[in-house]
Amino acid sequence: MSTIDIVVPCYNEEEGLAHFVEVTNSVIDTIPQHKFRYILVNDGSRDKTYLVMKQLAEKYSNIKYISFSRNFGKEAAMYAGFQHTTGDYVIVMDADLQHPPHMFPQMIKEVTENGYDCCALQRTAREGESKFRETFSKLFFRLQNAMSETKMPYGAVDYRIMTRQMVDSILELSEVQRFSKGLFSWVGFNTKWLPFQTVDRELGTTTWNFWKLFKYALDGITSFSVAPLRFISCMGIVIFFIALIYILITLVQTIIFGIDVPGYATTLMILLFMGGIIEFSIGIVGEYLGRVFMETKDRPIYIIHHTNFTEDEKK
Ligand code: UDP
Ligand code: MG
Repeated sequence: MSTIDIVVPCYNEEEGLAHFVEVTNSVIDTIPQHKFRYILVNDGSRDKTYLVMKQLAEKYSNIKYISFSRNFGKEAAMYAGFQHTTGDYVIVMDADLQHPPHMFPQMIKEVTENGYDCCALQRTAREGESKFRETFSKLFFRLQNAMSETKMPYGAVDYRIMTRQMVDSILELSEVQRFSKGLFSWVGFNTKWLPFQTVDRELGTTTWNFWKLFKYALDGITSFSVAPLRFISCMGIVIFFIALIYILITLVQTIIFGIDVPGYATTLMILLFMGGIIEFSIGIVGEYLGRVFMETKDRPIYIIHHTNFTEDEKK
């Protein structure tokens, strides 16, 4: 018999959490050969998620909860959950039932019998999601994979089961700005990808908007690749050579034809163009510098306000 911990990050999930536990329990009941435990992480919800969690923990003895002092983000919530796991295997999934628990038996089989270290889910269809968002995420995946050594399959979601060994490896990556999709593939190990169809959120609303998604994409690229920095160095070299040619042409023209006063338009264009490029480059450098700054502060990834883990169980 193996022990399996289910880590569930929750942000404003008061409406759906109890239902989630019920549905998941009905699946767990069909797998008596393993012992399951929930680790619910309340990521500073603004609603009554914490109270719901507490009630659930009173009702079911296999529910542990951690409640943050504020919203630290899903990545922090997953990290906190992982840090508190002790099971032989760890499942991580969303609280909104978009990650169907009925896949458990199949996922567990891949890691317990088929020799994989991890079994993760990959979305096949994106029904119920806007075309705009779909196009954007596709673009992001392409860009990310082209720029970085750490490859992520398109449609990978944060629903997976991992061995203790893999979870421990992930915990060793203690960076503050976490990008789990990348971290999961960075640590390596054998992953079995299972396709699944996205379902609409049952209750509550998604907390993601376009701006958040954009920031997420930027995080994904900057935490696994320095390609943008290389790109600006290359751009600098190219511009330098173009400038050199232009300088020579102007020099020869001036010597042969004398001083040509008009040139206001070209001067202005070059000035504005170069100004734009410089701003853009500083922006990219700044993006990395900002990340270095955040990392060097070495602040904790999350702060716990309430939990039903005892002092000994805490890590
Ligand atoms: N979540 C979280 N902290 C946040 C945002 C989301 O812990 O700041 C949790 C949320 O409760 C859910 C999961 O992360 O369990 C995925 O969130 P959501 O369903 O809003 O995202 P989507 O399914 O649209 O990717
Ligand atoms: Mg969701």
